[in-house]
Amino acid sequence: MSSFVASFIADLRNTHPGQPEFHQAVHDALMAVAPVLEKNPAYRDAALLERLVEPERVIIFRVPWVDDDNRVRINRGYRVEFSSTLGPFKGGLRFHPGVTLGILKFLAFEQTLKNSLTTLPLGGAKGGSDFDPKGRSDQAVMRFCQSFMNELFRHVGPHIDILAGDIGVDRRELGFLYGQYKRLRNAFDSGVMGKAPAWGGTVLRPEATGYGCAWFAAEMLATRNDSFAGKRVAISGSGTVALYAAEKVATLGGRVVAMSDSHGFIVDDQGIAGEKLEFLKQRNDRRAPLREYVEKFDGSYSEGPHIWHVPVDIAIPCATQNEINTEDARALLRNGCTCVCEGANQPLTADASMVLQESGILYGPGKAANCGAAVVSAFETAQNTLGLNWSAEEIDSRLHDLMRAIHDRCLRTAVEHGCPGNLIVGANIAAFTRLADAMLEQGVV
Ligand code: NDP
Repeated sequence: MSSFVASFIADLRNTHPGQPEFHQAVHDALMAVAPVLEKNPAYRDAALLERLVEPERVIIFRVPWVDDDNRVRINRGYRVEFSSTLGPFKGGLRFHPGVTLGILKFLAFEQTLKNSLTTLPLGGAKGGSDFDPKGRSDQAVMRFCQSFMNELFRHVGPHIDILAGDIGVDRRELGFLYGQYKRLRNAFDSGVMGKAPAWGGTVLRPEATGYGCAWFAAEMLATRNDSFAGKRVAISGSGTVALYAAEKVATLGGRVVAMSDSHGFIVDDQGIAGEKLEFLKQRNDRRAPLREYVEKFDGSYSEGPHIWHVPVDIAIPCATQNEINTEDARALLRNGCTCVCEGANQPLTADASMVLQESGILYGPGKAANCGAAVVSAFETAQNTLGLNWSAEEIDSRLHDLMRAIHDRCLRTAVEHGCPGNLIVGANIAAFTRLADAMLEQGVV
């Protein structure tokens, strides 16, 4: 079967050239589901994989806007509507200069499987732009967001395609995007998630992915009668997902000793929590460099990407794709790391992922561990429909329950397919079979 996967990926490289992140995401998922494909010829006879890797629709558009110096700027906007098999398209927007169609296709493919794994009635999508909001004034970001939405709004709606945040798209950007969407649509609806609690959002939405990831890691540790208590933890990134993963890890008894940004990393053996974490949150809002931390608190700052060489028991990558290579993975193992839980999407290279899978340590894949945002978005819809406002405690408790259920689903599926403890196999097979069966039932569309 792996020769089938190899030839499928070779074809994919020809039909979707120059998109290595997308090839990697498809490859990793297919490797995990290969035994299911072998047992179910119906999937292959119906050209299901060929349909699965082809987005239903891709929208690419010009985003003209005027910067603070009155210069006309042009960026490229995208929306990859990958699959509506299980519900309306749903997925975040990323604003980052490194955004390409290939990266958004990989993210949309991952999102499709992630949303399937949650068992929620949601399809998968991703979008964004090569626009960099960093260092831009609020007014400039607003003008960009309004122009972006002037084109995208016609494809968005609560039953069509639902937008949310990702790298570079936080509460500020979501507010501007929603304001323009509402104006153009002449409707106050749930086409955009992640709204502020005062106007239709839910509390704990920014926290959802990070908290959910920490809850997922706690479930993984519990399978080995272990917990966060007293453990040294490294968390990459210092944005939305990383900060709230750190907050939950601290409340679960772990000591976060290292965090990073795209320039370098800090190490603080006393632990990054409480006042220190609040400082990092404010720094993130100001979009200031991470090195400011060591001017105010203990610890050291180093330039470069070597956070994974800091000795820790648990690693939670929450920055970006392919941030852990084989050298990093080996350094983690050498230093005694026993658990890696992915807050970011596809943070390990394919080879690094194999190194961890072969090591037998606890390893939680992003498509399971970082689905907290999808889960809490569903809570937002439920609260809007019921006219209720759940408390932070209630949402956190429901989030924990759902993360536990997703973890158990991955674990159970892995056992059923002869790979006990392999959450990569469990997550991919559980997500794939729900999606594939629905595709078969809906015919050739
Ligand atoms: P943010 O933009 O809030 O934060 C990203 C952080 O990662 C920043 O601190 C950034 O530093 C850092 N970073 C970026 N590139 C690198 C790099 N090469 N090395 C080290 N650090 C880096 O993004 P989010 O927290 O929202 O997203 C992080 C990850 O989580 C992404 O993979 C995203 O797809 C995933 N995710 C996000 C969800 C969400 O709801 N937001 C939901 C599910 C997954 P700097 O500021 O210097 O660029």
